Amino acid sequence: MESFINERDFFRGNNPETIAEEYGTPLYVYNEEIIRKQMDNVAKVITKYPYTANYSVKANTNIHILKLALEEGNNCDAMSPGEISMLLKAGFPKERIFYIPNNVSEEEMKYAVDLGIMTSLDSLSQLEMFGEINPGGKCAVRINPGVGAGHHDKVITAGKKTKFGIAEEDIPEIFKITEKYNLTIAGINQHIGSLFMDPEPYLQAVSNLLRIAMRFENLEFIDFGGGYGIPYHKLEGEAEYDMESFKKRLEPILDKFVEEYGSAPLFKSEPGRYCVAEGGVILGRVHSVKQNAGRKYVGTDVGMNVLVRPSMYDSWHDIEVIRDGKVVPRENTETVTVTGNICESGDIIANDRELPVIKKGDLACILDAGAYGYSMSSSYNSRPRPAEVMVCKDGTVKLIRRRETIEDLFEFM
Ligand SMILES: *Cc1c(COP(=O)(O)O)cnc(C)c1O
Repeated sequence: MESFINERDFFRGNNPETIAEEYGTPLYVYNEEIIRKQMDNVAKVITKYPYTANYSVKANTNIHILKLALEEGNNCDAMSPGEISMLLKAGFPKERIFYIPNNVSEEEMKYAVDLGIMTSLDSLSQLEMFGEINPGGKCAVRINPGVGAGHHDKVITAGKKTKFGIAEEDIPEIFKITEKYNLTIAGINQHIGSLFMDPEPYLQAVSNLLRIAMRFENLEFIDFGGGYGIPYHKLEGEAEYDMESFKKRLEPILDKFVEEYGSAPLFKSEPGRYCVAEGGVILGRVHSVKQNAGRKYVGTDVGMNVLVRPSMYDSWHDIEVIRDGKVVPRENTETVTVTGNICESGDIIANDRELPVIKKGDLACILDAGAYGYSMSSSYNSRPRPAEVMVCKDGTVKLIRRRETIEDLFEFM
């Protein structure tokens, strides 16, 4: 793909330079239509049986994006009381929220129980805590299906090396606890990790979870977790995750289970990244270009406080260069290292990247920043967090979160 920005008409006819001038940089820019389309895609992964795609909100908790999920009919997963509150504020009814915390305090667990929000317990001791808080109650348990997958060790959340889930061999202990507190296990869930493009490990984990599900009676739901990937190397030709072929391979696995189980519970998945990653970019301003020991550095205002993924996970984000409001074609290129403005040598967005020759004053447009971008941002180096705007379906640009100010940093003193 030569340019994602042009091919998808990301700014819907608006001039990105004008947007950057009006709202300042660094700036998160979202495209409403792309996000809606992705949410709609995952909502159709299973059509033969009852199914919901639960948007995993930690990928992006901007309330205006939560409202898109609400309108698209997605349910949501929350990991904390903060995420639950945000969902309630966005207008989600409690029935459409699934709480999947780990290592929460009694208070944080009680918060959801009192609201009547379905909660999944991630360990035997948290299940025991739930029993004490809510004897006779209904809950779910998170199972570790023994297979993990993901783009980095830090995001693999099942298998042998992870803090998450209850191991299969501990299932008899689950039943002891449920008996002791007269609990009903309404559902089981798993999440094997984040960002896979090869569906094989996920399908294998689905099969494992369904095999495990046979040991639970009258399940109301079975939740296979999230992790569907998006092509972060799209400018190098990487293709979209093939939902259609995934769907075709998933269905016979479900058929076989439904036949053996005797009924179809509600199936769920928990996509986060897939819903929002491609629908968000960051516009950053190039403030310096310099040569250091034979290496060329492009210094922008997109620091690791704005986007931490490259420094945290060595993640790749494609970059397009915008000059005078237009994408610069990738013809006259050179190898540069693109950095931010934070005092850390790990503050790098892209290492030795082949980009069109960049000049001071250009905009660097960081692609695929809608997931785990703003939601992981910080005010490190006392740099206020950026603003977020949405390019709406009708082409208008709407401020959906104002830029933090230095005064905001004084708020908690
Ligand atoms: C983060 C998370 C997800 C979403 O993962 P993605 O890779 O963004 O799809 C789903 N379920 C659980 C339990 C998670 O922690």
